Amino acid sequence: MVNTISILGSTGSIGTQALDVAKKLNLNICALTAHSNIDILEQQVREFKPSLAVVFCEDKAKEFKIKIADTNTKVMCGMEGLIAAATANEADMVLNSVVGMVGLVPTLNAINAKKDIALANKETLVAGGSLVMDAVKRNKVNMYPVDSEHSAIFQCLQGMNEKKELKKLILTASGGPFFGKTTQELENVTVSDALNHPNWSMGAKITVDSASMMNKGLEVIEASWLFDMPQNKIDVVVHRESIIHSMIEFVDNSVIAQLGLPDMRIPIQYAITYPNRFESPVKELDFTELGSMTFYKPDYDTFKCLVACKEAIDLGGTAPAIVNGANEVANKLFRDGKIKFLEIGDIVYNALHNVKRNEIKCVDDVLFADKSARQYVNDIV
Ligand code: NDP
Ligand code: MG
Repeated sequence: MVNTISILGSTGSIGTQALDVAKKLNLNICALTAHSNIDILEQQVREFKPSLAVVFCEDKAKEFKIKIADTNTKVMCGMEGLIAAATANEADMVLNSVVGMVGLVPTLNAINAKKDIALANKETLVAGGSLVMDAVKRNKVNMYPVDSEHSAIFQCLQGMNEKKELKKLILTASGGPFFGKTTQELENVTVSDALNHPNWSMGAKITVDSASMMNKGLEVIEASWLFDMPQNKIDVVVHRESIIHSMIEFVDNSVIAQLGLPDMRIPIQYAITYPNRFESPVKELDFTELGSMTFYKPDYDTFKCLVACKEAIDLGGTAPAIVNGANEVANKLFRDGKIKFLEIGDIVYNALHNVKRNEIKCVDDVLFADKSARQYVNDIV
C-alpha cells in the first residue's frame, strides 16, 4: 500500500479532493504543486507539511517563499519544480492532477524515476500516449486511472480472464449542459451557460470540455492508450444521470458496469489503494431514490470535437497532440470571451486537418506538434 504521495496540481478540483482522501487514509504528503494559487497552497503546506512545494509561476513563487519562510518546506518554481515534485525520493506514488499538456514532461519523469502514477491529467495520455505507455512498460511501474470513466473500466476489468474475451469498452457521457441542443440553439450560449455542468463540479477547463464533448473525445483517446483498444471498439453513450461511470462488453455480450454517485473521491481513492478498498466519505447509491436511468446516442454532427478526436486516433502519430493543443487554446479563448462556443469544434477539427502531422519518436515531437497547433489557432482567430 502507498505510504507517501506527491500531488501535482494540489490546489485544483481533483487535487483538493485527493488531499481529502489522503488525509482519511493517513498518507504522508511529500510534495504539493500549484500554478499560482498561493493562498490555498499555503493552507495545504501548513496542514500537510510536505518537504517540497512548487509554484509554477516564478513571481508568485518568490512571494510564496516569503509567506512560508517559517516552515521547513522548500519552494521551487517552473517545470524544474514540477519535475522535482514528480521525482521526489520519498514518493511511492505521484498523483498528477494538473490541467493540460504541461503535465506530460513531469509524468514521463515520474515514470522514469520508477514512481507509480495515479493519472487525472488526461492531456498527458492524449498528447504523448505512446511515449507514456512505453515508459510505463520499460520501467515496470503501474499507472492507475483517476478519470471516473477509466477507473470504472479498470474496475470492471478486474475479473477479466483473457483480453481476447473483451469485445468493447462503453464510455458513458453526461452530455453536459448542452445535451439535446441544436447548432442554432448553441449559437449564442455564454461561458456561464457552459460552466453550468448538471452533475459534476470540476475545474473550468474540463467543464467547458464537457460542454463541447471534447472531454469525451479526449477520454476515448485516453481509453485507447490505457486499455490498448482501437477507437472503433470504444463506444460512447450519453447517460444523463452519471451513475454508470462506464462499462465493458465481453464477446458473449455480457456487460459489466461500475456504478456510484458522481463523486471523484471514489476513483481517486481506488487509484491510491488498489487493489484494496476502504470506506469512503461518498454517500451510498440509493436505487429506489434514483428511480430510472436514461441512455442516448451522442450527437456527432453538433459536437465536432468528439469526431475530431476519433479521427485523430486513426490518423495516429502527433494527431492527438494536435487536437489537444488546439483545444487547449480554443477552450481558453472561449472562456476569455474571444470566440463563440461553436467555434471550438470548428477550430479543433480544422487544426487536425491543417497542422502538419508527424510520427512520435521522442517527447520533442509531441511538444512541437502542440506548439504548432497552438500557433495555428492563434493565427486563425
Ligand atoms: P483545476 O483547474 O481545478 O486544477 C488544476 C490544477 O493544476 C491546479 O492546481 C492549478 O494550479 C494547476 N495548474 C494549472 N495550470 C498549470 C500550469 N500551467 N502549470 C502547473 N500547474 C498548473 O482542474 P481539475 O482539478 O478539474 O482537473 C485537473 C485534471 O484532471 C485535468 O486534466 C482534468 O481533465 C482531469 N480530470 C478532472 C476531473 C474533475 O472532476 N475535476 C475529472 C476527471 C479528470 P492553480 O490552482 O494555482 O491554478
Ligand atoms: Mg471523465
